Amino acid sequence: MKSNSRRSFLKVLLGLSAICLPWTLWPGKLNKAMQSLIKPPGVNLITHLPELPKGVNNEEVLNRTAMEDIIALSSPEMQGRKAGSVGESKAADYLAKEMSTLGLKPMGDKGESFTHVFTIPPVTEKFVNGRLMFIPGPIGSLRTPSVNLLGGWTGKKQDEVIMITAHYDHLGINQGILYPGANDNASGVSCILDVIRHLLRDKRVPQKTLVFAFWSAEEMGFVGSSAFVQAPTFPLRQIQAVINLDTVGNGMVGDFSLWSEDENNLAFQSIKKAAAEAGASALHTSPGGHNSDQISFARAGVPAVTLLARDWLNKNHTPEDTAGLIKAEQLKMASDILYRTIQSLAY
Ligand SMILES: [Zn+2]
Repeated sequence: MKSNSRRSFLKVLLGLSAICLPWTLWPGKLNKAMQSLIKPPGVNLITHLPELPKGVNNEEVLNRTAMEDIIALSSPEMQGRKAGSVGESKAADYLAKEMSTLGLKPMGDKGESFTHVFTIPPVTEKFVNGRLMFIPGPIGSLRTPSVNLLGGWTGKKQDEVIMITAHYDHLGINQGILYPGANDNASGVSCILDVIRHLLRDKRVPQKTLVFAFWSAEEMGFVGSSAFVQAPTFPLRQIQAVINLDTVGNGMVGDFSLWSEDENNLAFQSIKKAAAEAGASALHTSPGGHNSDQISFARAGVPAVTLLARDWLNKNHTPEDTAGLIKAEQLKMASDILYRTIQSLAY
């Protein structure tokens, strides 16, 4: 009896290993096992939590306001931030420095830098109803380098990503006249920086990975964001929602619009709820021949939404889009909506 049961136990064991062996050798499994071996040791232990780097003057960094960033980005020094120009480089430099000072982890090319480099097609300039626009230039002409910026914090669930984005480029200088682009879109960029500072004050570790992205060449047809979708610096499938801000600082306080290809997706629902909680109105409207960077992600099937002031078109793409157009209270409301959205999506 004893030897019999031992024999049948061995039979079961052999049978089990026959089943288990092919399972462990299944290509996907093997791939995963290999990947964990290839990964540098301790990579998961590196934390990029919301905290300022050592040696930074906390008071000075955290007390900076969104309006100060708008004034800096729309100053003549930045030359209107046209993609591919010296002005773009200056603005990119300004933003990379801010991201570094705020202790964000670089999430651009190879995960080593804040920058994500791509190229832009040639464009020509045209006035449509008194507004300066870029239209595609001659096909086959040389492309010019341009740069997106990405940085963030790794959450407890590293592979679940919430993206917060805004384009930082604008129209540059045309016939000697500066297009400052204070509302379009220094306002969206500055709101994001403002909310990053708010989250730093909270000192809480996010559940999900938060990626903050500043796109370039939006004014040339969402070129920066679509270049990212074409060549992302982490898998696109990890992105659960993209919240994009564009021209958020003008108009009646608390009066906003939302652009999204799908009002049932997570991104749209979260920001809609956050706006209501902040006491703002955010209505789903049709872009009506215009658009913003959420479209690049929607085309790739990633849930995305853009928040903008309902009155965004006022002075848009004119030299009068200056810091004077921005209402501090409206900007504060946009930051509040974004902060609440991030709380519900990532914490
Ligand atoms: Zn624009």
